[in-house]
Amino acid sequence: MSIEMKSAPLVAREIENLKKRCDSLKAKGVTPNMKVLLVGENKASLIYTRNKKRFCEKFGAECEIINLNENIKEDEFLNKVREISNREDVHGCFVQLPLPKHLQHIDCGALIAPEKDVDGFHDHNIGELFKGDPKSNGLMPCTPQGVVNLIEFYGHELSGKNVVIIGRSLIVGKPLSLLMLNKNATVTVCHSRTAHLQEHTKRADIVVSAVGRPRFLTSEYLSKDKNQILVDVGINHDADGKLCGDMDYENIKDLCAGITPVPGGVGPLTILSLAQNLLQAAENSL
Ligand code: NAD
Repeated sequence: MSIEMKSAPLVAREIENLKKRCDSLKAKGVTPNMKVLLVGENKASLIYTRNKKRFCEKFGAECEIINLNENIKEDEFLNKVREISNREDVHGCFVQLPLPKHLQHIDCGALIAPEKDVDGFHDHNIGELFKGDPKSNGLMPCTPQGVVNLIEFYGHELSGKNVVIIGRSLIVGKPLSLLMLNKNATVTVCHSRTAHLQEHTKRADIVVSAVGRPRFLTSEYLSKDKNQILVDVGINHDADGKLCGDMDYENIKDLCAGITPVPGGVGPLTILSLAQNLLQAAENSL
């Protein structure tokens, strides 16, 4: 039997930690304050931003969603982001993506002051991740940090492990490879042009999939020893509209040592990391 690596117990434990840190900041006169800039009325974005706000309020932080008109002019949008990000009482700030077409060329990570960049997208924070100094107080990218936290929460050391990450995007695969390298794992990053993908995944101790293809990772990708840890970052819908990950969960869950379900695995950890970054940013501001 493998372990089902759900995120709920990790989230529950960390909310208690966040409450304590938030109380201690308030005792020093600082209430962690996040601003979310939401342009337009994309349905999924409305849900994501509401969830982020609710999560922050659970542990005592403030979070405001600032709604901007879908047709806002570029210079007006840029000014608004800079104005909010520069406010002294704001500790964390981000722009909810995707943006409407006419604004999609903008590098939002670069607009936010690096010390308030709770998404971890600013070049400064990417540089800190690249350097990997354990004493750095740079803000780390949320989903990758969540993956590392989940693996460690379930008692798996990364040091010395062979990790195969499938996917090389800027928000998941690439930053995750650096975080894991910084934890002394031996990391292979695979992608759409990787030859003989199964040869890589079969010899990994830990396989992370961030591809976005429903149930593509089947038993053929796994080693026979049933000792692998499988982390599914994918959030997909199958042909019947059912939510599923990149991994063929039902058919491989007993062929490994541990596996994250979808939903209930990596998904909720992005918001947790965002909240942890907000508190770190507020603590750094003291
Ligand atoms: P992306 O489309 O930017 O990147 C996908 C990656 O998969 C690419 O690097 C590509 O090279 C690789 N790929 C595509 N087909 C492949 C194949 N056949 N073999 C090997 N590699 C292949 O996607 P993304 O933004 O990194 O997201 C990936 C998945 O993770 C999506 O399902 C997304 O919804 C999900 N996601 C979840 C969270 C979360 O849990 N909070 C956060 C971000 C993304």
